[in-house]
Amino acid sequence: MGNFFKYSLLTSSLILSTYSLADEHFRQHSTHVHGHVELNIAQDADELLVEFTAPGADILGFEHAPENTQQKEKLAQAVKILQQADNILTLSAAANCHVEHQDVRHNLNSHDDEHEHEHEHEHEHEHEHEHEHEHEQHTDHGHDEHQHSAEHGAFTVEYHFECQRVNQLDAIETHWFTHFPATAEIEVNLLTDSAMLATELDASNHTVSW
Ligand SMILES: [Zn+2]
Repeated sequence: MGNFFKYSLLTSSLILSTYSLADEHFRQHSTHVHGHVELNIAQDADELLVEFTAPGADILGFEHAPENTQQKEKLAQAVKILQQADNILTLSAAANCHVEHQDVRHNLNSHDDEHEHEHEHEHEHEHEHEHEHEHEQHTDHGHDEHQHSAEHGAFTVEYHFECQRVNQLDAIETHWFTHFPATAEIEVNLLTDSAMLATELDASNHTVSW
């Protein structure tokens, strides 16, 4: 078994645990810490998956469904910012990475957004399948249990990059703190072919390099 294969297994399990963590978060309305964002970065061959999990408070200043026009606009604006990977991340230029897919999810929808919500569910589901096609133990995670969180809404933001020279990738800068200054720290877990590290970023130290 070569290193590559071992890393692939590691990467797959990291991705899987990332997904189940996100799932748990939505299901349990788990106690997140305001000001604290989690960032998981995993390389799988030429692909790089970057996933942020953030409290609604960090991004919007509130964590409930928007109650007025101002809050609706704030939510729409935040989603718009997050949907552009360039707004949030700069990867080593030499690696020549481009965004292949991105997904911004949150659970701050109001009840009259049921249709949109269902759509997001399907999307989430497809997404799991994409990454679990090699894992025969895939089971339905019981999305019926999914509930709206009234008190502690959260965001999960994923960027999938395809890198032409992934071995040239050795730094990722985030502009998160510029857009969302309520975040005090980002806890980073990174796994690539050449590095496995855990670190913290903040407004003055916002690049992870290896
Ligand atoms: Zn909260």
